[in-house]
Amino acid sequence: MGIVLNDFRVLKGRGMVDTVLLEERWMESNSGIGHVRYSTVGSTKEIQPIIAVTHKGKMAVAHNGTIPNADDWFKHLLERGAVFQSTIDSEIFLHLASMAPYDDPKASVVWALSKISAAYALVWMHADFIAVARDPYGFRPLFIGRYKDGHVVASEDAALRAVGAVNVEEVAPGTVVFFSQDGIEKQRFEESKRKFCSFEYIYFARPDSTFSGLNVHRARFMMGAQLYRENRVDADIVIPVLDSGLSGALGFSSESSIPLDFGLMKNRYIGRSFIMPSGRKEIVRKKLVPIRDVVKDKRVVVIDDSIVRGTTMGIIVQILREAGAREVHVGIHSPPVSHPCYYGIDTARKKELVASQMNIEEIRREVKADSLFYLSLEGLLGVLGRNGVCVACFNGEYPHLR
Ligand code: AMP
Ligand code: SF4
Repeated sequence: MGIVLNDFRVLKGRGMVDTVLLEERWMESNSGIGHVRYSTVGSTKEIQPIIAVTHKGKMAVAHNGTIPNADDWFKHLLERGAVFQSTIDSEIFLHLASMAPYDDPKASVVWALSKISAAYALVWMHADFIAVARDPYGFRPLFIGRYKDGHVVASEDAALRAVGAVNVEEVAPGTVVFFSQDGIEKQRFEESKRKFCSFEYIYFARPDSTFSGLNVHRARFMMGAQLYRENRVDADIVIPVLDSGLSGALGFSSESSIPLDFGLMKNRYIGRSFIMPSGRKEIVRKKLVPIRDVVKDKRVVVIDDSIVRGTTMGIIVQILREAGAREVHVGIHSPPVSHPCYYGIDTARKKELVASQMNIEEIRREVKADSLFYLSLEGLLGVLGRNGVCVACFNGEYPHLR
């Protein structure tokens, strides 16, 4: 995690916020920006926010997302004499603002934003203002709100509400909001081509977040219910894969009238297995503990939000069988993830995505389930609304290439 306060004092460290941000003095400032990301690799040089000294003043940027054509930008800028302090694509924004054909730093920020179409939600600090911006597709979420006599900004409204913010609103795609001593100024730098990430609804976001008026828990519940309407499996109990499979499992259970029970508990003292560079199998195994009493001799249907590489589900099926389950059916409340994400979600490279290498029957055999079924893309779009969401990791139709 990293933070930069408005006098450009910097604190960066590897690890969770509460292991790095230990001193009160880092909260003593009238403004600042910060960033957390979930990868555990890389040096502190690669931790955001990134700071640059330009002839328009010092600037710092923290960015959620990925620039899909970053290599082209790096090449373009390096050939024009730019020097980079990291390999983070977010640095491109700072270079563009520095090179922009304006003296005014705000105009330079807008110019830089208008050059890059995807994918970013970002906070950008200058001594005179903080700019908050979202790309024209709005792939990644971004919210602003009022807090005491100031303002707060975060990716999810749930985080803002948790601290007691009011007047919480979504930043519209293609819009930048400037916060300064003079107040708030909103500027649209491009028309909205809204393609919000459907995976935020499926897995990433907190259940208490709401995007475009649709609550995440409610959306997952509806995906689970629709999953059952499309796949009427016969079973004794529904088991959620905690935590992200819970809302979908509730929907599946409610629609099917098959009772929901906790057949798999989660050991909360072990970190997130998806992001651990090695030994994922052992970590997933230690993390999920079956309740024998619940699953023994039962026909179970286990519900999770997604299968990416397939490791997790293979282990879950094995654990449930070892605990005495008679049949193990697997329901996934999203379509098969068959294409990589270029917009900031760390799924995996194409060949690591099990659904890019195998069909559903082959995946079923691989994870050793009695049956395996996914939500259809139609079903997902029925829940999320036909327009305005990105589903590229399911169908390969990347909005920035269309
Ligand atoms: P896998 O073993 O790769 O199939 O991992 C799938 C599991 O990881 C599911 O239980 C998801 O809840 C979770 N998951 C899916 N996508 C991601 C992601 N991009 N980052 C972290 N966890 C994820
Ligand atoms: Fe989200 Fe998938 Fe689109 Fe990436 S490709 S932004 S994960 S929906």
